Amino acid sequence: MKTTPFWWDEAEPAHGERHFDTNTCSVLIVGSGYSGLSAAITLAEAGVKDVFVVDAHRIGEGASSRNGGQIGNNPKFSLAEATRRFGAQRAGEIMDDYDQSMYFLLKRAKTLKDPFDLSMCGSIVGAHSRKDLKNLIAYRNGVDEEKRKGLEILSEGEEHRALKTDIYRGVMINHHTGSIHPAKYVRALANRARELGVRIFTGFRYMGVSNNAGRHDVRLEAVANRKSITISSEKVLIGANGYAGSELPWLRKRTIPVQSYMIATEQLPLAQMEELIPGNRVVGDTKHILYYFRRSPDGTRILFGGRAKFRTSTAEESAVGLREFMLHTFPSLEKARITHSWFGNVCFAYDFCSHVGKMPDGTYYTSCCNGGGISMMTYLGHRSAEMLLGLPGHDRGVVNTHFPRLYFYNGHPWFLPMVGTYYRFLDKAARWRD
Ligand SMILES: Cc1cc2nc3c(=O)[nH]c(=O)nc-3n(C[C@H](O)[C@H](O)[C@H](O)COP(=O)(O)OP(=O)(O)OC[C@H]3O[C@@H](n4cnc5c(N)ncnc54)[C@H](O)[C@@H]3O)c2cc1C
Repeated sequence: MKTTPFWWDEAEPAHGERHFDTNTCSVLIVGSGYSGLSAAITLAEAGVKDVFVVDAHRIGEGASSRNGGQIGNNPKFSLAEATRRFGAQRAGEIMDDYDQSMYFLLKRAKTLKDPFDLSMCGSIVGAHSRKDLKNLIAYRNGVDEEKRKGLEILSEGEEHRALKTDIYRGVMINHHTGSIHPAKYVRALANRARELGVRIFTGFRYMGVSNNAGRHDVRLEAVANRKSITISSEKVLIGANGYAGSELPWLRKRTIPVQSYMIATEQLPLAQMEELIPGNRVVGDTKHILYYFRRSPDGTRILFGGRAKFRTSTAEESAVGLREFMLHTFPSLEKARITHSWFGNVCFAYDFCSHVGKMPDGTYYTSCCNGGGISMMTYLGHRSAEMLLGLPGHDRGVVNTHFPRLYFYNGHPWFLPMVGTYYRFLDKAARWRD
């Protein structure tokens, strides 16, 4: 079993430039995932010269080349909850940001030359309990007519038409979503950025900034030999998401990094796969500790994700738990060999909202995918570029909303095992109530 992402078999992250031949740039972006690269593309398209993207690892080696490749726009709260938290106007704008993210991804996709297995195959949400199915029906009834047309409910007993499992109490199909190959997508974004003149440097860790006559002196450290380099930049944008370390204390106090795990099976007969997940749709569910799964782009493997444990575990350990979850879902996969097991970091905010804004040291940030951010972090990269450009109307939605911090927390989520126990209890209780 490999402990690298299945996606890397076809699109392993590449290194960028390994040496700086100048020590000035106009915008320095930390992080070469979807948010950093997307910001760089928007800036370069707007004519900004000397945009640098810097990453401690290879291009997109964080969550962006490791994820499940399920695209959609899923806020983790309802409009009513958002209104209570942010007020009516911001709440409406925030929901609009989530809606726009999917359109934006499809628009940006048209500008990319490299293919990345984009498929509008649709997605399925499995209802864990009868109450969850009622909530899905209420959600469908509450959206505008255009959106409602793309949502289909299959009640309990009908769900086998979309998914051959007995674990759900019905499902909702969203016909306006789909899937990508995440590592090919990050490669396509990087190539587009370079084509526009963006320079991507890898193997350099951002260590902090100091202000120098209206510019930022950015301290970088070469990962290979710990040599320090200072780059002077007009503006700095941090797109570190779940990989922000102690060098970013302001973000660490506001964000909870969480590991998410995946496995891939060996290639299996196409007919068997088509029977389990017809039409190669992608699947998630309504549990607190959700399962998410799909077939590989060629349709022959099952890729299964979730949180096997709420403690940090190795790819080998998590494979055991994830395989159990997969067999719980599809008992017929008993004999399927697991060929890959891997994990990556996602990033949560206490209010479960994504955030874009400016830190007290004058640098900008885009942060918190809250579990699913292929479209949202692509879009927020673009929105943060609008903010850096000072475009009229940029201060809306998730941009500059209050970013809450938790006191007595320094970035190490010691409470996650307890949260895990509580969530497991809630998931069990939901089925007892049925
Ligand atoms: C296993 C898994 C499954 C997922 N499945 C889905 C899914 O199906 N659908 C979906 O929408 N989302 C999914 N996600 C979430 C999605 O991958 C992320 O939301 C998205 O990739 C975030 O992009 P990003 O650019 O903000 O962050 P990342 O891609 O994580 O990039 C952050 C980068 O910052 C760099 N960095 C951090 N600190 C520093 C520093 N000090 N100096 C230099 N570089 C630094 C890191 O090396 C990293 O490359 C999943 C995530 C995981 C881990």
